[in-house]
Amino acid sequence: MIKAVRGTRDLLPPDTALWNLVEDTVRDVFRAYNFHEIRTPVFEETQLFARSVGEETDIVSKEMFTFEDRGRAQSDKGQSLTLRPENTAGVVRAYIEHKLWDRGLSKLFYIGPQFRRERPQKGRYRQFYQIGAEIIGPPTAGSESPARDAEILTLLATLLDRLDIKDWTLELNSVGCVNDRATYNEALRKALEPVAAKMCADCQRRAVTNPLRVFDCKVPEDQPIIETLPRISQYLDEPCRKHFEAVQAILTATGIAFTLNDRLVRGLDYYTRTAFEFTHGALGAQNAILGGGRYDGLSESLGGPPAPGIGFAIGEDRLVMSLTQSAESAQRKPDVYIAPLGADMNIHAARLARELREHDVAVELGDESFRMKKSLETASKLGARYALIVGGDEVASDVFALKDLQTGEQRPIPRAELATTLQSR
Ligand code: AMP
Repeated sequence: MIKAVRGTRDLLPPDTALWNLVEDTVRDVFRAYNFHEIRTPVFEETQLFARSVGEETDIVSKEMFTFEDRGRAQSDKGQSLTLRPENTAGVVRAYIEHKLWDRGLSKLFYIGPQFRRERPQKGRYRQFYQIGAEIIGPPTAGSESPARDAEILTLLATLLDRLDIKDWTLELNSVGCVNDRATYNEALRKALEPVAAKMCADCQRRAVTNPLRVFDCKVPEDQPIIETLPRISQYLDEPCRKHFEAVQAILTATGIAFTLNDRLVRGLDYYTRTAFEFTHGALGAQNAILGGGRYDGLSESLGGPPAPGIGFAIGEDRLVMSLTQSAESAQRKPDVYIAPLGADMNIHAARLARELREHDVAVELGDESFRMKKSLETASKLGARYALIVGGDEVASDVFALKDLQTGEQRPIPRAELATTLQSR
């Protein structure tokens, strides 16, 4: 038997009803905040991720699904392609490729699968889904303003509230800009020199190549050492500190609670200034529902013009796990089950079903070979509110027996009144 690949999974009804509920809700929220959808390809040139996410990150060094795409002609040189492990790089590539700066500030959102070769465990998949958004544009369009950071964070609070996800925590940090990073990296390197030998192999390497990434370490024995390292908050320059304070002031004024965490650096190299994560009790501390931050130099590092930006990615799998609503209750039930009763009744039932469906009534259709008892049992099992009987007498009179499956009451309804009767339930 061929099964789904380890770390991937099928999403089946009724669970997909919860996914649709989430996606409908986020689309409503994006509309309220004036974001528009972007869809980028599922695979990109490998270089895009190496240059943006960063060679030393876990994502690029260990987790990418990369493959050689040999050209069709023998002489074609192969090209290294990668299934996207995240979507910000693709959005910024598209921003540059389509010169979106001509449009001023771009507020874009996406919903789609991402791929990482991670060790499969609860809440961690190799194909998972992200809902994300980016605000990006030329500095003259206000893309660097702390107001944009606050807008993104407010949107997220709105979204979680609308989904009735209650006990979330927003953790906030500033990871500074290029200037701060140089002095901070130097300080980190110095502090790591005498202790790196006692740390895991990854940290020993990071200590030399990209010391900030030491904070991504999850090895328990390394944590006491990491606790003693200098924090970025002590190295922010004046403009970064002011920017961060302005973000906090807007959040406080709009009533959005947050906690400061100066160990939060996120596992991707492109972040500058504001970085954040939302966690939720049900998922455990290691498993953030979502994360994001500013990436003011990303466009330039990909060959584009200055285009400060800020964005986030929600793990949709984890968001769905955090919902309190059951999948059963989210799934729409048929309004009516049509039961053709006796020979040649399928034809009449099919016509009636089509008419009602035109009026947006959710119809399930039985079969003339079923006896009445089987039809009613099937209708109840599906959770249909009504059963509609289509037999010889009904067809002849054009008046149909409508049985309310909750009360058991049965009434004759003329064909012309069926749609309105079923719609007004
Ligand atoms: P990141 O791009 O690593 O900041 O991830 C953003 C969000 O995507 C995380 O907070 C998770 O909710 C989700 N996520 C990341 N990796 C996975 C995975 N392997 N499986 C499920 N969700 C994931």
